[in-house]
Amino acid sequence: MPTCDLLLTNALVVTMDGSFTVHPGGAVAVTGDSLVAVGDVGSFTARETFDCGGRVLMPGLVNAHTHVAMSLLRGLADDLRLDVWLMGYMMPVEREFVSPDFVRVGTGLACAEMIRSGVTAFADMYYFEEAVAEATAAAGLRALCGQTVLKFPAPDAPSYEDSLARARDFIVRWKDHPLIVPAPAPHAPYTCTAEILRACADLAVEFDVPIHTHLSETLLEVEQWRKTHGMPVIPWVKKQGLFDAHVLAAHCVHVDLGEMRTMKNAGAGVAHNPSSNLKLGSGVAPVTTMLDVGLDVGIGTDGPASNNDLDMFEEVRLAALLAKGFSGDPTALPARHALVMATRLGASAIGLGSLTGALEVGRRADLILLDVDAVHNTPAFTRDPDAVYSRIVYAAKSSDVTDVMCNGRWLMRDRRLLTIDEAALAREAADYARRIDAFLITREESVLKKLVAIGGAVEEESFEVQVKARVASADAVLAAIASDDVTVIRAARYHQYDTYFFFDDPSQGRLRFREDEFLDEKGEVTGVRARLTLTGESREGEFGRVLLFRSRYLAPATHSLRFYREYFKPTAERAVEKERRRWLVAYRGVEFYVHLDRLAQPPVGGYFVEVKSRTWSRRDARDKAAIIADLLGHLGAHPDDTLPDGYVDLA
Ligand SMILES: [Zn+2]
Repeated sequence: MPTCDLLLTNALVVTMDGSFTVHPGGAVAVTGDSLVAVGDVGSFTARETFDCGGRVLMPGLVNAHTHVAMSLLRGLADDLRLDVWLMGYMMPVEREFVSPDFVRVGTGLACAEMIRSGVTAFADMYYFEEAVAEATAAAGLRALCGQTVLKFPAPDAPSYEDSLARARDFIVRWKDHPLIVPAPAPHAPYTCTAEILRACADLAVEFDVPIHTHLSETLLEVEQWRKTHGMPVIPWVKKQGLFDAHVLAAHCVHVDLGEMRTMKNAGAGVAHNPSSNLKLGSGVAPVTTMLDVGLDVGIGTDGPASNNDLDMFEEVRLAALLAKGFSGDPTALPARHALVMATRLGASAIGLGSLTGALEVGRRADLILLDVDAVHNTPAFTRDPDAVYSRIVYAAKSSDVTDVMCNGRWLMRDRRLLTIDEAALAREAADYARRIDAFLITREESVLKKLVAIGGAVEEESFEVQVKARVASADAVLAAIASDDVTVIRAARYHQYDTYFFFDDPSQGRLRFREDEFLDEKGEVTGVRARLTLTGESREGEFGRVLLFRSRYLAPATHSLRFYREYFKPTAERAVEKERRRWLVAYRGVEFYVHLDRLAQPPVGGYFVEVKSRTWSRRDARDKAAIIADLLGHLGAHPDDTLPDGYVDLA
């Protein structure tokens, strides 16, 4: 007579196997970490038997895409666009706070939430992923753990080479763990380079592990790719060799049929994240078509900072409803299909299809018990064999999960967690929240601090003497520049588009977003550049009409004007657009910049000149101011025509 370790009897066994077999009044036999019988357990005798009391016994859910440690950032910044949310809030806070301890606490908290909601396996991507793996293994859950690789400095790696080395090291040490599959996680094409994607694919192939990444999440990303690379994201990453490995691609909201076929042929898996895509306004992934193409599409919650929870029951229900609502077809994505995405297909998508995702002999004992007799799930019909899926997908709630087993080990019995101390984690999480709040409150006090927080700001303690004046015509200026008294060192011309941000507190200074379009002699655009400049309002001195300024903070503007507007929230804004000719000249032995401007916006007629020079002492400033006054006369500007301050004050 065969024996097993544990018999679970008197259950409505929903196997989620290839034939969608359901066993009313069924049983499951477990030995060690695996299932040895499902449905009819025949003559098995067990060391221990558990009566499930008629509850649903089904495979544990698979959360196909998340960033579990971000549970500590839940609710930190919401209702923002993806770039402002990510670059303006998440990444600066992460640079400041993310450490192995942060990751341990966040992962523990997330594991508690996931166990309570019936998840037994998930696919993660974060920094210090080894700490995610440790906390997950301690909680007893199964996971694909992706170590993030990025082109810019990350909390756990100063450079891409370091993050790649960290990924390799992590994979080497965790490769044979019973619960953890380590993987490289190149964050996304727009945060990586072609070289990084290739290196990650090589690494994944070398160790036969998947790759976890984000692909085609927003329309903006796909449009940028078409513009820059002449093709959408999927063919481009294919060209880089990414699909040489098993790829788990989160989102794929904006992919066409050809791209889906490419992914199918490459054996890639997709993680559909309905809540996250809706909350960040990214759109709705075409999952019905993906399933028709034969892709393994799982369902994920994405990180708890963009969802804001890890509730897979909610995601499954939403996936089914969205597919119907968007196609206008109520037969799209029936409950059974939605549930198989959250179990068997999800397991395949994340590369764990041989281990979990269905109740089948030989798979690991990853299972949950669900109380389907709650008042919100009453009564029950039996005529339609698919009714059980309706009950699970449309009416059951995550809080109906009563018991959870992963890898043959109980993690929750009768709603009591066995591997995690929730109260201790909640205390630690509250402490992190206090510190992060304090950090952001301080940062919000200053425009400069906010500028530094998004990276790239360079403090230039520069002093500058400058004057701006109206001139009667451009001819006098051009004649002076061409004269023997003036030596031209460099010349350029451009269109300049400036947007000034003003703040309630004038001591914050003003922030200028400047886009330069460089023009050749024929007026054709030869290049563009965008910069941010924070100018203090302080004027250090005056020498006649020549003014002395200091303190400018410069940063390359790597985001859009819209990003900075939403991030800095200025109280007023002004646009200045001009045509500028710029010369670096030597006059009386001193170098000056001379600008000849014509304003298009605001529509002020005539020409203006600006003359300026770097300076380093009051005496030097005074000397240069005298030469500037002289040069100004040469350029045809009358000293009484000088403007009290910059053009912005004209507007
Ligand atoms: Zn994500």
